[in-house]
Amino acid sequence: MNCLNQSVGKLTGIGAQTLNRLEKIGIRKVQDLLFHLPLRYEDRTQVYPISALRVGMTVLVRGRVDFIDSLPRGRKSLVCRISDGTGFISLKFFHFTANQNNSLKPGALMSCFAEVRHGFAGLEMVHPDYQIIYNLDDVITEACLTPIYPLTDGLSQTLLRKAVKQALTLWNNNPDLLIDWIPPSTLKKYAYPSLTEALQTLHAPNKTMSLMALQNGSVPALKRLAFEELLAHHLSLRLSRNKIKAWQAPIFGQDPNKAIKEQFLSALPFKLTGAQQRVIKDIETDCEQAHPMMRLIQGDVGSGKTIVSAYAALLALSADYQVAIMAPTELLAEQHHRNFSLWFKNFQTKVVFLTGQIKGNARKEILQSLAEGSAGIIIGTHALFQESVNFHRLGLVIIDEQHRFGVHQRMALRQKGQQGNTRPHQLVMTATPIPRTLAMLQYSDLDISIIDELPPGRQPIVTSVIPAERRPAVIDRINHWVAKKRQVYWVCTLIEESDVLQCEAAENTAELLTLALGNVRVALIHGRMKSKEKDSIMQAFKNHQIDLLVATTVIEVGVDVPNASLMIIENPERLGLSQLHQLRGRVGRGKDDSYCLLMYQSPLSDTARNRLGILRDSNDGFVIAEKDLELRGPGEMMGTRQTGAINLKIADLARDVDLLEAIQQTTEQILIQAPQAIQPLCERWLGASTEYAEV
Ligand code: ADP
Ligand code: MG
Repeated sequence: MNCLNQSVGKLTGIGAQTLNRLEKIGIRKVQDLLFHLPLRYEDRTQVYPISALRVGMTVLVRGRVDFIDSLPRGRKSLVCRISDGTGFISLKFFHFTANQNNSLKPGALMSCFAEVRHGFAGLEMVHPDYQIIYNLDDVITEACLTPIYPLTDGLSQTLLRKAVKQALTLWNNNPDLLIDWIPPSTLKKYAYPSLTEALQTLHAPNKTMSLMALQNGSVPALKRLAFEELLAHHLSLRLSRNKIKAWQAPIFGQDPNKAIKEQFLSALPFKLTGAQQRVIKDIETDCEQAHPMMRLIQGDVGSGKTIVSAYAALLALSADYQVAIMAPTELLAEQHHRNFSLWFKNFQTKVVFLTGQIKGNARKEILQSLAEGSAGIIIGTHALFQESVNFHRLGLVIIDEQHRFGVHQRMALRQKGQQGNTRPHQLVMTATPIPRTLAMLQYSDLDISIIDELPPGRQPIVTSVIPAERRPAVIDRINHWVAKKRQVYWVCTLIEESDVLQCEAAENTAELLTLALGNVRVALIHGRMKSKEKDSIMQAFKNHQIDLLVATTVIEVGVDVPNASLMIIENPERLGLSQLHQLRGRVGRGKDDSYCLLMYQSPLSDTARNRLGILRDSNDGFVIAEKDLELRGPGEMMGTRQTGAINLKIADLARDVDLLEAIQQTTEQILIQAPQAIQPLCERWLGASTEYAEV
């Protein structure tokens, strides 16, 4: 029995309750403790003279108590000043026991550890870790930097440190139980330490190691483990890709349908761009294979992804297969429904629409048409796949704006339409909210096609950043705009993720704008409206029966009304850059010049100003994502929403971006030369989430 695979319950000091708590943070086996790495460190290896202290340092000091004071104001608190001959510092306690009160006496000696802050009377420490000592040389210093581990309620650092120590000892006694799966050539190439050395270093860093280097990730031990973690994620996605490619898939033949394709394309009011044609070729090649297509189309907002996906649908239909299209919002699903109905109106097939809101007989009819095959295309929200929808012959699944769905949802969808050993082709689309380098990691289970060209004649959107005080001028501008027969979006945002509040804010704004703009036809759209209502408002806006559409961020994705060419976004400082870029993408869709006004609430912080500046200066989603990443800088994790919910323990996508190329190379090497390393690496780093690699 490999003792590292035993339950952590085998270690001393871990009872049933602790076992449960550890499980919450993904620790089940002894080995999991070895890979539960510190968030940061404290330096208790040396005693600092008080004269050397600066605000912000977290250090160990010692001294003699000069005096004690209890402050009567407000809550009862205790202040105690100590000095060590080089200077003095105040210790502040807001709650204290009788025991403390007794032991802290003038003349007593003590050591304390805490962060140094500014206080009323010079430097101070609040609630330091302290000990009464009997000799100034009695201060206990640690031999190593002290690791601070991620915890959960009810666990303490002490408990975790003891458990990790036991795990390290067990492992040291049986060093062969943990295999270093990184190829020796890779270790050599990047001068990485061995696994043993790296783990030892991170759990118990030598006192000569700089805290700074540990924090900013430049320590080789940290770099190596971050590398290994990202490698594990990449491998798991690649493995999942290989597994899917092993399934059979329907072949959508090319030649017999040439006439149909030409007819389809010539019916469009425009000619496809070069980029669109190139991506269509990629899709055609994929669908001629007997294995599932797994393709991601990345293309900036407005680059024309929808028609490309419609072409893929055409391939499926002409081979007599059904197509399912999933969109993240009802609004977008409805819009797709309208477009696809138009594009496929001359086909012998029905285009149907399904959401959770469609019930009763209408629903029954739709489900039946799918089961018997009279409906060739179904469009809907994710409810589409949660329902017991049965297909006659599903051949293609299209997922629009996939970054709005999690990795898990994407994985789960792959089983849909499975028949025998055959699975449908899959096409997913996204408007690139993440930089290329990260996309390589996050989407390594997919082939990527990029639409890097906008349809001709588009004017770049002119973006300005203005304070909310200029509202009257903005209202004027709307009047002028509408007089020119053009349309306007007004987007309301709120900090709270609360739907209700956001809708209320939009309702109020719509009322105010209606009052202020006498001759303008104002309408309101938000997420809490009935699907039918939203649809009719969108339709009216599209038909130019409405001039100004006040909206919440529901219009973030997909909505396409080319004559709307002015957008005002209220409080843009509250949103992420990629979300703002998506929103702004609702304008600039026609031949007219387009404007986006980012109307912020003063005062604006420097960072917020810089971020909005990025948006003002660029219309390129790729550039915006890269700059956004740079601005966040090292140490600041990217929001899970932006990384597609990859959960990382120690790697930091912003900080470790330089590793990605090496990770790709090593992945290929392992896939070919050492496939036996994949499973253990994934288990080591992904733990329970490894399961989705099996889907
Ligand atoms: P997105 O990539 O953001 O999903 P859409 O597919 O909604 O973009 O397309 C945006 C607009 O561009 C739509 O009105 C669409 O009809 C139009 N469009 C798409 N391709 C072309 C093209 N090749 N030439 C002109 N207009 C196009
Ligand atoms: Mg789209």
